[in-house]
Amino acid sequence: MAPPVHELIVAGVRRPAADGATFTTYNPATGKPLAEVAQAGRADLDAALDAARAGFADGSGEWASTSATERGKVLARAAQLIRERADEFADTEVADAGHTISDARWEAGAMAEVFDYYAGAANKHFGDVIPVRDAGMMTVSRVPIGVCALVVPWNFPSYIATWKLGPALAAGNSVILKPASLTPLGALLLGNVLVDAGVPASCVSVLPGPGSTLGATLVADPRVDKVSFTGDTSTGTSILTAAAANITRVSLELGGKSAAVVFADADIAAAAADIPISVFANAGQDCCARSRVLVQQSVIDEFTDAMVERTRALRVGDPTDPETEIGPMISAGQRSQAVDYVGVGTADGATLAIGGQTTDPGYFMNPAVLTGVANDSRVGQEEIFGPVAAVIGFDDEAEAVRLANDSPYGLSGSLWTGDVGRAMRVARAIRTGVLSVNSNSSVRYEAPFGGFKQSGMGRELGMAALDHYTESKMVFFSER
Ligand code: NAD
Repeated sequence: MAPPVHELIVAGVRRPAADGATFTTYNPATGKPLAEVAQAGRADLDAALDAARAGFADGSGEWASTSATERGKVLARAAQLIRERADEFADTEVADAGHTISDARWEAGAMAEVFDYYAGAANKHFGDVIPVRDAGMMTVSRVPIGVCALVVPWNFPSYIATWKLGPALAAGNSVILKPASLTPLGALLLGNVLVDAGVPASCVSVLPGPGSTLGATLVADPRVDKVSFTGDTSTGTSILTAAAANITRVSLELGGKSAAVVFADADIAAAAADIPISVFANAGQDCCARSRVLVQQSVIDEFTDAMVERTRALRVGDPTDPETEIGPMISAGQRSQAVDYVGVGTADGATLAIGGQTTDPGYFMNPAVLTGVANDSRVGQEEIFGPVAAVIGFDDEAEAVRLANDSPYGLSGSLWTGDVGRAMRVARAIRTGVLSVNSNSSVRYEAPFGGFKQSGMGRELGMAALDHYTESKMVFFSER
C-alpha cells in the first residue's frame, strides 16, 4: 500500500495539492524513501496568497486587529502544543533532516521557548509619543506589514521556521511558510500547531515545493509584503533582485565562514574540546559553523593535537542513538561537495590531519581537520557547509583580526583568550553580527541574530525581529 501523503496547508486547511502533485523525501541516515508530500503548485500558491491578503484586509483583518495581548496568548498555546508533541517534532527532525535525537529533543524545547518569548513580547513592542513643535500630539506606532513569505532551509528546518513565525505572528501578520523540499515535514507539523492554537486559518499556509519555481514565484508576487529568507547567499541575491520590482521588504540570513580565534594565552584544552563541536555539530551544516580555526603559531601544534584527538572521539552514526554526536549529512550531493573540498584543500597545500571518510548507507562523513590552510585559499574562503575544519596559523593579535575579517561573510565567531583586555579589543574589531568569548555560543533567542557583509541583512530573534515584521507609522493629532 502506498504511504499516506503529507498534505500541504492552504489557509489553515490541510489538503492535497490542487493538481494532485507529490514528491518523495528521503531519510538521510538510510537513503531510503521517508515520506510522500503534497507539492504546492501555482493554484495552491494563488489560493494561499488570496486568503492571506483577504484575511489581512489592509490591517483590519481578524488577526491584525486582535489585541497584541490576545495574540500573545495564542502563541503561548502554540508553545504548549509543541511541548505536548515534542517527541513527534524530535522524531520528525531525526528522520527528515538527520539530526541526532539529542539535538532534536533540544530543538523541540527551544522551538517552544521561541514561541513563549514572542508570546510575552507581543504586547511589549510599541511606539512613542514624540514632542514636536506644533500644538498637538505626535504618535508613532508599530503596525503589521501584511503578508509575510517565510522561506526556510533544510539545515534546521523547524527551529529556523519558529524564528520567523514567532515574531511575524506576534506582530499581527499573515504567514506563508515555504520549507526546503528536502525537509518539509516539521514545517507542516508547525502549521498544524498554529491552527490548533487559534491563529486564524487565513493567516497560516505551509507550501512545500521547489525553491526554483514555487519559491521564486512566491517571493516575486506583489501580494507579498515581506520576505524573510534563510539560505544560501546566491539565493539571497536572486530574492533581493526579485523583491526589488515591488519594493517588497526583505530580511536575509545567509551563509558564513566564521572564525574561532585561539590565542596562546587561552585555556587550550578547553578551546580544543569545544571548537570541534562548533564546526562539526549538525554534520557541519550550520551557518554559524566556526569552520576557520585561527590559532596562534606558538601553540598551534599543542592545539591541533588536542583538537584532532577530540575529533577522533566524536561519535558519528545512527542519529536515533542518544549517544550519537554527529549524524548524517542531508544528501549525497551535499556530502560529495564536502568530500571534494577536502581534496581541494590538500591540492592547495593543506594537510588532512584526520577524517574525510564516508560511510554508507546514508550520507555519513567523518569530521575532517585540514591543517596548514592559507586563509586566502578556497577552503579558507568558501562556505563548505559540511564537517570540514580549516586550521590557519597567525603570529599576533593584529594578524588574527586581519585574517578573521578577511572573508566575504560576517555571521558568527568565537575568540579564546585569558586576557580580558584582548577579548574586548578583538571582539570590537571582528566584523560579525554574533561573537562569543571563551564559548561556542551563537544563537540565543533573546538576542538579535544576523550577519554583516554577505551573511545577510536584518536581524532575527530578540525584540529586534519585531522591528522587521512591522512598519513604523507616524500620526499627528492637531489641537486645532
Ligand atoms: P537554499 O538557498 O538552496 O534554499 C533555502 C530555501 O530557499 C529553500 O526553501 C529553497 O527551496 C528556497 N529557494 C531556493 N531558490 C529559491 C528562489 N530562487 N526563490 C525563492 N526561494 C528559493 O539554501 P539551503 O541549501 O537550503 O541552505 C543552506 C544555506 O543556508 C547555507 O548557505 C547556509 O549558510 C544558509 N543558512 C543561513 C542561516 C543564517 O541564519 N544565516 C541559517 C541556516 C542556513
